Amino acid sequence: MLSTPVNLSLPNEPRLVTALPGSRAQAIIERDRAVTSPSYTRDYPLVVARGEGCMVEDVDGNVFLDMTAGIAVTATGHAHPEVVKAIQAQSARLLHMSGTDFYYEPMVELAEQLAMRAPFPSSGTGFPAKVFFTNSGAESNEGAIKLARYYTKRSLIVAFLGAFHGRTYGAMSLTGSKAVQRANFGPLVPGVTHIPYGTHASLDHLEKQLFATILPPDEVAAIAVEAIQGEGGYIVPEDGFLQRIRDICDRYGILMIVDEVQAGMGRTGRLFAINHWGVMSDIITTAKGIASGLPLGAILARPELMTWPPGSHATTFGGNPVACAAGIATLRLLESGLMTNATQMGELLQANLTQLHNKFPRMSLPRGKGLMVAVDLLNEEGNLDSKLRDRIIQEAFLQGLLLLGCGKAAIRFCPPLVIDSKQIQIAVDILSQILHSSHIVSKST
Ligand code: PLP
Repeated sequence: MLSTPVNLSLPNEPRLVTALPGSRAQAIIERDRAVTSPSYTRDYPLVVARGEGCMVEDVDGNVFLDMTAGIAVTATGHAHPEVVKAIQAQSARLLHMSGTDFYYEPMVELAEQLAMRAPFPSSGTGFPAKVFFTNSGAESNEGAIKLARYYTKRSLIVAFLGAFHGRTYGAMSLTGSKAVQRANFGPLVPGVTHIPYGTHASLDHLEKQLFATILPPDEVAAIAVEAIQGEGGYIVPEDGFLQRIRDICDRYGILMIVDEVQAGMGRTGRLFAINHWGVMSDIITTAKGIASGLPLGAILARPELMTWPPGSHATTFGGNPVACAAGIATLRLLESGLMTNATQMGELLQANLTQLHNKFPRMSLPRGKGLMVAVDLLNEEGNLDSKLRDRIIQEAFLQGLLLLGCGKAAIRFCPPLVIDSKQIQIAVDILSQILHSSHIVSKST
């Protein structure tokens, strides 16, 4: 292994000390190419050595401002000291025992903490939810599909175009994002119908056309929906959209599965994105930010739904004690300031991006909630321009700013929720400089 230069603390802004990628990064990328799956999608050659807050350092000592949070995961920032402390303390006591076959307190405690915050109707005396822990977003959605089918004894599912729910067979079958994610993997799980996301017109079509013709509603187990569509482009649905799904579900005895894997755990300024609309769900799936970077996910379901018997669904690693300890620390931090910060910094980011849009209309107005924000890039005719988006992301990397795309031509901003106003300004300044560079923006697409 190459040793990495270690500084005590990372600067609060990008600092580039080599050409990119540096020589150590190049060597690791070459080794990677020889041995890892070509299905990974690396947009630029970043080889990370360590992270702190919103900053990451590569193996050559270059420091980047991270507006990706490792794909919306490191909610509390990279290596938050309180999360690290909780992980260290728990790993010195118990690394693994399997919550499927045994009991340990961190799993119970995190389940209690999540259950009491679930956006479900109060169930009187007990907790408003029961919790099944998983290792990932896909596994959470996979389990949610199984639970919905098990409980309703129905098989059909409605999902949305543009949705991303994961890569395993059930989750992939709900996904309606990019053709490459499905191509040559069929046959998928049958019984899924995709409709357009986010509009009342789409729900009219579902109820008036599909339910009346080819999709008998009393055979539909669930409607699976992202409260804000993530990989599909950070699309905020029309007001009333989620409430109408709730109403449709109630009318036909269908379960509402809300995928909060990307939008949940404080990212939008509320614990769950659905909280913005005050809509009650039946099942919530979560993962990503839940444990600040340790692999953990969860299915939350109304207690009367989670009636599957012992042995019907389980997992060896899900709810690992170290991941749960990280989850407990994460939740504490989210509620003691980080969700408020997400709201405030998200508003600042959107205000700054709006100003930038006023100068560069080829970057759209921003959209999103909290620190789940995106802009589209447009060509001169005003159409979505994915190549321009890709060039901007490349150039941002070369200037020390880490960005990710989503949707057809969007740049998403999903930084750690610890980001401060200076870092927001730096990110927008770098973007502004790039939009000023005629060699990037004016290239015909
Ligand atoms: N659901 C949503 C909304 C996601 O954004 C993702 C991942 O991007 C997933 C599910 C899948 O999560 P994982 O990659 O942890 O399986």
